[in-house]
Amino acid sequence: MSDTVHTNTGFFRAISSQSAGVSLELDHVTKHYPGQPAPAVEDFSMSIEPGELIMFVGPSGCGKTTTMKMVNRLIEPTGGSIRIDGKDVLSLNPNELRRHVGYVIQQIGLFPHRTIAENIATVPKMLGWKKERIAERVDELLRTVQLDPAAFANRYPRQLSGGQQQRAGVARALAADPPVMLMDEPFGATDPITRERLQAEFLRLQAEIGKTIIFVTHDFDEAIRMGDRIAVLSDRSRIEQFDTPANILAAPANEYVSSFIGQGAALKRLALMPIAEAKLGPAAGAEGPKISIGDNLRDALDLLVLSGAPRVLVTDADDRTIGTLDQAGISSVLGATVPVVGAPAVTP
Ligand code: ADP
Ligand code: MG
Repeated sequence: MSDTVHTNTGFFRAISSQSAGVSLELDHVTKHYPGQPAPAVEDFSMSIEPGELIMFVGPSGCGKTTTMKMVNRLIEPTGGSIRIDGKDVLSLNPNELRRHVGYVIQQIGLFPHRTIAENIATVPKMLGWKKERIAERVDELLRTVQLDPAAFANRYPRQLSGGQQQRAGVARALAADPPVMLMDEPFGATDPITRERLQAEFLRLQAEIGKTIIFVTHDFDEAIRMGDRIAVLSDRSRIEQFDTPANILAAPANEYVSSFIGQGAALKRLALMPIAEAKLGPAAGAEGPKISIGDNLRDALDLLVLSGAPRVLVTDADDRTIGTLDQAGISSVLGATVPVVGAPAVTP
């Protein structure tokens, strides 16, 4: 019934028995911690489509964790309403909420005195699943995150590397197959290489399971790599901009968002664009280094700079040259008007 789908070979594998994402709405949500002069989250509204991966990006202390924890009521809102699949979370009992919302905690948060298997079994146990069903599920999830059950099930968290602990954390959050996942800086504690692999593999898993996800990070590059949409947040979880990575990079709403993007916005945009978006020059007789049409425009620019060639040859899946691309061609995809040598001047 619950065979692992062997379509990819990364850390995370999709599971055949799964529930897809549902809609998530936050409506004028406020959190005012007792005794604090100002609210931590003020009048936060957001509508999330089923299966969307939404990134919250903002500086430490801006209210990301507070906003996220209100969704599964680890923190009770002071005002406003939150709906999962149209149902007010205040009307769901705690068990229903745990079944609906998986949570990957900041700093991993595995229980140190429980084995990896016991950690993953936490929510199914609370939900009163039978022993055999829990054992099966734990086994399946360990395989999903590419941890060999024979080697890892009975270990304690401290006996795993940071990256392995993160994967166990993801497995635990997926245990009851929730349609909504909350992920609070889930890959923050890993080295950059492990982190990039976890990001790529998680995206591949998400493409198959299609959960509705809120993913918190303070790393803008992680946000553009992962997100379907990004909410750039400032103090009190104020939404400075909420849009796709490409749109935010192309048109930051204000200075605050620009400062978050930092240097190299054009290169970051190019990394999100496949070469297919560019208008290619004629292939006939051209020479130069080759790049695949499946690569992105940043890769193409990289190759131009590295090789010093005036243009690169773009190849299809069968390694046939289908066109050429030069720097002007890349710039024009970003909307730059590149003067064409020999063309008559155009008056605006
Ligand atoms: P982030 O996750 O973006 O770093 P948090 O949501 O953790 O931010 O915190 C937002 C603000 O609320 C911060 O100023 C923090 O100090 C404050 N805060 C968080 N938890 C509590 C609490 N339990 N009591 C009082 N203030 C809190
Ligand atoms: Mg936080």
